[in-house]
Amino acid sequence: HVPVLCVDGPSASGKGTLSTHLAKTLGYHLLDSGALYRIVGLAARRTGLLQDEGEPDAEAIARLAASLSIRFADGCVWLDGEDISDAIRTEQGGMDASTVSAMPAVRTALVQLQHSFRKAPGLIADGRDMGTVIFPDATLKVFLTASAEKRAQRRYNQLISKGFAARIDDLRADLQARDARDTSRAVAPLQPAQDALPLDNSDMDVKTSVQLVLDWWQD
Ligand code: C5P
Repeated sequence: HVPVLCVDGPSASGKGTLSTHLAKTLGYHLLDSGALYRIVGLAARRTGLLQDEGEPDAEAIARLAASLSIRFADGCVWLDGEDISDAIRTEQGGMDASTVSAMPAVRTALVQLQHSFRKAPGLIADGRDMGTVIFPDATLKVFLTASAEKRAQRRYNQLISKGFAARIDDLRADLQARDARDTSRAVAPLQPAQDALPLDNSDMDVKTSVQLVLDWWQD
């Protein structure tokens, strides 16, 4: 049975960084499930299925999600042969991801794809519902949190380093709006699995949190 280590938690809590380090250290595959919802959001916006006005057609977006050719390679995300790594990382991309991820049909359309990442020797699964919905039988589930201040600061540093303009106050407001929507939605709301171990990394550096999780993993 291929082992899975889930890292769930709110936006910008450091899941991506922690998961990447864990995958590297253990030599495991990595599933960035948030990227999948971001890709669907981007594709839906580009095709006009997602607009600022009006109710989007969830079934049409789910069909689009099921038809996309998504590939993770060389540290980049590819959609139909185009490198969209940066395009999906914008704040708009995060909000669009949050919108499409609240659609039950879209979540269903992405289940099989997510399961296909579970391959030997093991998988680190990064997301919101990895431990609750996608891999309920995971070996270890970590629920990662950090204060809204720390998360806004980290997102700010991330965006600035990529050359995007950003304001901390706007980012904090965006994060909180996204958390509120992710936590209150009817399907797969953001919540720790019953058997998840909580980890607040507000005042922890990356090395310390990676080591802590590796210790749990080896126990
Ligand atoms: O993790 P990331 O910020 O890239 O995720 C973008 C959005 O995708 C989240 O705000 C959330 O709404 C959604 N998401 C989800 N389930 C996951 C991963 C992400 O609903 N497993």
